[in-house]
Amino acid sequence: MDHYEIIIAGGGAAGLSLAYQLINSPLKERSILIIDKGAKSQNDRTWAFWTDEPTPFEAIVYRSWDQLQLADDTSAQLIDLDRYRYQMIRGIDFYRFVHAALAACPNVTLLQATIDRIEDGDDVASVIVGERAYSADWVFDSVFRPAEVVEDEHHQYLQLHFKGWEIETAEDAFSPEAATLMDFRTPQEHETRFFYVLPFSARRALVEFTVFSSDRFSHEEYAEALKEYLAETLGIADYRIVDEEQGVIPATDHPFARQVGRRVMTIGTKGGRVKPTTGYAFIRIQQDSAAIIRSLLDHGHPFAVPEDSQRYRLLDAVMLEMMDHYGEELKPIFTRMFARNPIERIFRFLDEEGTPLENAQLIATLPPRLFVQAAIQWQFDHNMPLRPFAALLQKDEAEPPAARPPDRQADADDNDEWWQIAARMF
Ligand SMILES: Cc1cc2nc3c(=O)[nH]c(=O)nc-3n(C[C@H](O)[C@H](O)[C@H](O)COP(=O)(O)OP(=O)(O)OC[C@H]3O[C@@H](n4cnc5c(N)ncnc54)[C@H](O)[C@@H]3O)c2cc1C
Repeated sequence: MDHYEIIIAGGGAAGLSLAYQLINSPLKERSILIIDKGAKSQNDRTWAFWTDEPTPFEAIVYRSWDQLQLADDTSAQLIDLDRYRYQMIRGIDFYRFVHAALAACPNVTLLQATIDRIEDGDDVASVIVGERAYSADWVFDSVFRPAEVVEDEHHQYLQLHFKGWEIETAEDAFSPEAATLMDFRTPQEHETRFFYVLPFSARRALVEFTVFSSDRFSHEEYAEALKEYLAETLGIADYRIVDEEQGVIPATDHPFARQVGRRVMTIGTKGGRVKPTTGYAFIRIQQDSAAIIRSLLDHGHPFAVPEDSQRYRLLDAVMLEMMDHYGEELKPIFTRMFARNPIERIFRFLDEEGTPLENAQLIATLPPRLFVQAAIQWQFDHNMPLRPFAALLQKDEAEPPAARPPDRQADADDNDEWWQIAARMF
């Protein structure tokens, strides 16, 4: 059996981000095998994110915007991002950039193959590919199979699904200075629906129709909505579709285990790195990769990464409930949030980095009725009497018995009394 110190199962955003950070860390000499079923030679997605500091992928940022727009039927906002930038990286540039960096490392092997399963063990874990097995001290698994998520009555399982067209127009049609984060000028149909526009120039943009709901749409439904938005709302008649992007991101508060064996850790979507209520994951993946490397260096195992905050998970659960039952009412919530708060407070809240005071200030600008209504509905729908308070009282979940990390970093909530947390929330 071929043995490596590290195997990364799946060489997409999370797998390649971890590999790239590893070869740029004191662990750069470790033997690493990355297995992906694809060649990653297509531009299969784009990643956009806000940031106030350079990421490891600054060299391949495709476009960067200093302003964001939001619109609904009655208002339009142009938001200056101050010290933040909204940036976009194309999948193909990311794959090529990381593959080139890895190719310069003799200790790193890329294998194109389909992984059948991963087997945990006391001293090593094995990755099974057909008849062959590859072993490693640590296996990082990003092979997410939605069918493996066993739904339960306590959590919500929505999908953030979208289809986008990159178009070229005959006339100038876009302001390349500002990306449109959310344009709600489309019938909501009891769901949260919006358009997202990344303008690359005055005549070229990625325009996406995005929906939070339980079920995806047919190709025709996405296409109809895009055509109507371009013609009726943006007034663009003459355009050519040069590329397409379609995707589904899980929007769920389902808990994704990180340590799934003595030697196996999940990363990326499979490791719950997608923020359930926004679908953003790219920056969270970078932070997670850095935390894994710190853990390996400090503790000799990868598991001592920060736990997710129960307070933010609870807020996500209530937001998902709103999207599920009062989807069309999210429109005023988002527009009010952006209209009444400084951008830094909003980004820190969405990045789960806000102080209790900042979060309280932000929540105070939102209509309370819907939150209370959704919180009550959530209790009934998910059969969890008084669960919000139970969740707030609860300490972080117990570690799996094997390879328990010695000193997992505690969430800030751990140090607070339940009434302090509850007071911050409501
Ligand atoms: C179309 C799209 C657009 C997105 N846009 C954004 C965005 O703008 N900003 C943002 O922050 N987030 C975005 N996301 C969310 C998130 O950042 C991405 O889904 C991200 O790619 C998740 O990283 P990952 O490594 O978990 O999954 P992936 O990047 O999908 O990587 C998983 C890898 O596993 C491989 N694989 C699967 N099965 C097997 C198998 N059996 N054997 C071997 N290999 C296998 C796949 O080929 C793939 O390369 C987007 C998601 C999608 C789907």
